[in-house]
Amino acid sequence: MRLASWVKHLKNRRGSQFLKQMARMWKFHQTSFDELTTNIFDALDPSGAKFTFPTVASVMPYAPDIIKNILTEGHEIANHGYKHVKYSLLNDQQQDLEFKLSSDLFKEYRIPIHGFRAPYNNYNEHTIELVEQYGFNWDGGVGYRPEYQKGNEMFYYSFEKKSANFMSIPCHRYSDDLLIDNYHMVPEEMSKLLNEVVRRAATKGGVLMFDMHPIRIGQKKYAPVLRDLTETAHELGAWMPTVNEAVNYWKKHGSWPKGYDFCLLHTGDIDNFIFFDYFRRLI
Ligand SMILES: [Zn+2]
Repeated sequence: MRLASWVKHLKNRRGSQFLKQMARMWKFHQTSFDELTTNIFDALDPSGAKFTFPTVASVMPYAPDIIKNILTEGHEIANHGYKHVKYSLLNDQQQDLEFKLSSDLFKEYRIPIHGFRAPYNNYNEHTIELVEQYGFNWDGGVGYRPEYQKGNEMFYYSFEKKSANFMSIPCHRYSDDLLIDNYHMVPEEMSKLLNEVVRRAATKGGVLMFDMHPIRIGQKKYAPVLRDLTETAHELGAWMPTVNEAVNYWKKHGSWPKGYDFCLLHTGDIDNFIFFDYFRRLI
């Protein structure tokens, strides 16, 4: 069934585009995840910022040490599904299974999980029901929908008859894959653009969340973009905790801690640890 979903997904992309993307990912995966996370931590350290990593559960057992290290460094791991497939292409029972398998696996490995983001930020109504049913504290993908992307406040999703218990966060459309893979930007251009977004956020207040994938932003070439961004945000009075810390604080106080003008959340999905994981999606 996941194979069918994957084939449907590929059908929607042109063949040449797919091969180019695979070649790009192959190149990125020449850097080990150890090095990628170290580069990210080094970039965040000067401003004391934290990072939240929604992680695909089925790849986690291949690198439990990296996951443990992320937690030891004070960052957060969230649930990014069991396999990296589009949930809107699965039926309800198939989605139920993805949620169950991923939650069970994180429990088995004793990884504390508070938040969820669906693969490809792709949800249908049943997916959102499942986020509610599984009692997640926050969701980081519903806020990627065009109607929420530009918002600067956390919100509770409205079902037909009730409002969700989990908190949603608007997710900015400038992800690293958009800027690097689609817009072909060099690091200097990325820095300029993202720093501008942060400056605007600082004047508006509220919350800003980015989705930057470790496989790209952790590269030696791109990590300085993250460093630059966090330093700018720090100077402008940003609080940069993990998503769960921010959500808990906001729920309790409805404001940010004293001395902070806005909140900047760094998130980045771990879809694969090694290039071969792309093929594991099929099984
Ligand atoms: Zn992903």
